[in-house]
Parts: sequence; C-alpha cells; structure tokens
Amino acid sequence: MKKLALHWKIIIGMVLGIIFGFIMNSVDGGKGFVTNWIAPFGTIFINLLKLIAVPLILASLIKGISDLKDISKIKSMGLRTIGIYIATTLVAIVIGLSIVNVFKPGDGMSKETIEKIKITYADKADVMIGKAKVTQEAGPLQALVDIFPSNIFKSFAEASMLQVIFFALFVGICLLLIGDKKAKPLVKFFDSLNEVVMKMVDLIMLFAPYAVFALLANVIIAFDDVEILIKLLYYAFCVVGGLIIMIGFYLILVSVYAKKSPMWFLKQISPAQLLAFSTSSSAATLPVTMERVEEHLGVDKEVSGFVLPVGATVNMDGTSLYQGIAAVFIMQVIWPEGLTFTNQLVIVLTALLASIGSAAVPSAGMVMLVIVLESIGFPAELLPIGLALIFAVDRPLDMCRTVVNVTGDATVSMIVAKSLGKLHDPKPKEWNDHYDEVK
Ligand code: ASP
Repeated sequence: MKKLALHWKIIIGMVLGIIFGFIMNSVDGGKGFVTNWIAPFGTIFINLLKLIAVPLILASLIKGISDLKDISKIKSMGLRTIGIYIATTLVAIVIGLSIVNVFKPGDGMSKETIEKIKITYADKADVMIGKAKVTQEAGPLQALVDIFPSNIFKSFAEASMLQVIFFALFVGICLLLIGDKKAKPLVKFFDSLNEVVMKMVDLIMLFAPYAVFALLANVIIAFDDVEILIKLLYYAFCVVGGLIIMIGFYLILVSVYAKKSPMWFLKQISPAQLLAFSTSSSAATLPVTMERVEEHLGVDKEVSGFVLPVGATVNMDGTSLYQGIAAVFIMQVIWPEGLTFTNQLVIVLTALLASIGSAAVPSAGMVMLVIVLESIGFPAELLPIGLALIFAVDRPLDMCRTVVNVTGDATVSMIVAKSLGKLHDPKPKEWNDHYDEVK
C-alpha cells in the first residue's frame, strides 16, 4: 500500500484535533481533560523543535559559509536577502491597507458590540500594552546592539536567533580566512552535526500528526465567546483574504524567478506551513522549514542556513499585512478622525519596522501593533479598547499569518538560491535511510 504523505497525516491530525476540541468544549470537565492530558503532548513537540533550533542554525550556517568559499558571495547573499525581505514586506503592507480601505470592515459596528468586547477583553489588552512598553523603553539602537552577544552560551541558552546567526557567520568567515587545511576538522565536525540535527527533524516529524492534534484541540477549548467571534468575522475574512493574496504573490515569484511549479512548491513546503498554523510560531517551525527547504526544495545549505533563520526573525509579511489591516480597522471603529493619508503612510513604515522587531512567537504581532498605533498618535485612553476589539480573533489570525511568514521565508530562500546558482534538484532523505545497517 502506498504510504500516506506526511502533509496528509498532519491534516488528518489537525481535523481530528479540531473535532475533539469542540466535543471537549461541550462536555463537563472536557476543557480540564484537554489541558491536563492532551495539551502537554503539543508542548513536548514544540520543546523538541526548539531544542534543535540553535544547533541547527549553528551547524548549517557555519558549514554553509565555509562551502561558499568566497567572502564577496556572503556579502551579495546578505544584501539580496535583506533587500528582497524588505520589498516583500512592503508589498504585504500595501495589500493589507488596500483591502481594509476598500472593504471597510470596521464601519457600522454597533455601540453594544464595542461595549461587550471592551468588558470581555480589556484586561487581556492591558497585558499586551504592558509588553509593548518594555520594547518601547529601549533606545533607538538597542536592536542593533542586541545582535552582538557578549556571552555566546547565554545566546544559546536564550535561543537569541540573531546573536547565534552573528556568531555562526563570524566563525564561518574565519574558517574561510584560515585556509582549507586548518579549517577542515571543524568544517567536518559541523557537517556531521548538521546531518545529525537534520535526522532529528525527521524523527521529530514522525510525531507531528499526533502533536498537531493536541495543539489544535488546545486552541479550540480556548474559544468561549462565539457571539463576539461572529461579529468579527468580516474583519477576519479581510485579514485571511489578504494573506491568501500574499501566498498567491509568493507563488508568482516562485514561478517567475525560481522557475518552479507553484503546486510543486506548495506540496514540498506544506508540512512546514501546517506546523506554522498549528504552533503560531515561526521560530518553533524553523527546523522543519529548514529541512523542507534544503531537502525538498533543493536550496543549498549555504543559502537556506542564512536566509531562513534571518527570515524567521526579521521577515514577517503575514504579521505586517495583519498590522496594517488591524490598525486601520481599529481606527474605523473608534477613531475615524485619525484615518488620514499621512497616518496610513506612517503605518507602512512602522508596520515594516514592527514586523522586523516582532518575536517569532505567538501573539507577538499584536504586541507590536501597540507601537504602530502609538506612532500615529492614537489616543492612549482608547488603546485598551482598540486591542480588545481584535483580541477575540487574534489566535486564529495569528495561526494564518504565521503560515504566510514561513512561506515568505521559503520563497525568498528559493529566489536568492536561484540568483546565486545554488538551487538544485532536491534529494529528500528519510528517517530510516540507514536503519537497516544498525537495527
Ligand atoms: N506568530 C507570528 C510568528 O511567529 C508572529 C505574529 O504575527 O504574532 O511568525
């Protein structure tokens, strides 16, 4: 019998998880059961993915850079990557702003609905505003300072992606500078480490269909106020519509610049997309994204090892598209006088910066939305109501925008790889390629 493809297994796990979540939502003690007995399996899965993220970035980037054999190539790869990331993010924000201005999801929301939302979610919105304050209090160059670690073990322990990337680049460049002969032992070490971590991804993914069941059941039991959800449906559709257009844009890029079939691309990357959806975290998904892009899309390690970790941290097209729509939606509902053209231009810029600054974890986009709103002089006293307005649907939208964030990174890695002659026919590996030799 033909084996069921991984993405189908994951989809089945997700659908069963959603159904199970709804059933548990409606039976006595069901929520407690999911929290205590099901959700921990999702947490174990996410922990395993996070566990391998740092060694994976380290090994694949160091090995990749030393394979490039040429420092000027590193420079051109870096510039291309950042340039394309900024360009796609700007496209995302413009799509978001166009949709929200044309469809106006915030017009006509009744006073009672606003009041009900305010009462239900104002406390949670305050927590988000508090988190945003911490980011705002930092100086203008703090984000730059934060890239340079003073203790690499601390960076490893805290999984500070950009610091780990900086360290790996630094080691990789120095390996080039000491010459092949001296570099060889360390390069071999990282090559082998990279193979080991990739194998770990294969093994962890065997557990993915069960893990997504647990993750989605846990998401479903968190929904309680269906009435508010329905009121926000039009807004949610606008965000999802924008995200779908963005995926379409990536597919065009894949076909025009990387000369690959869009359907093939979607099929190869889908396990990473499904995990992005289930975990709402591009950082947790990163090991799987790297495995898919290298082994299933054929991007060489030297490109994927740099483009993907950087992208997981700074390239969030889904998040920026969402921030554009959410900011204008909130204004349409409670601050229509702020809806000027200049303010929308400021949103383009701040949403770009905010998506770069957003952490690759659940809800990060909503925290940074506070900064976007404050940059246009949004009245402070309305801020908790503004955030409360979008809180109810944030989690499902977070799941969707994370899919776009991950797809964007994969797309850009293909374009960069193609432009550097680093895109080849993929050679997928299975977890049990060498099993017969050792069993
Ligand atoms: N959850 C998103 C990510 O990890 C960030 C966000 O938009 O909240 O990519």
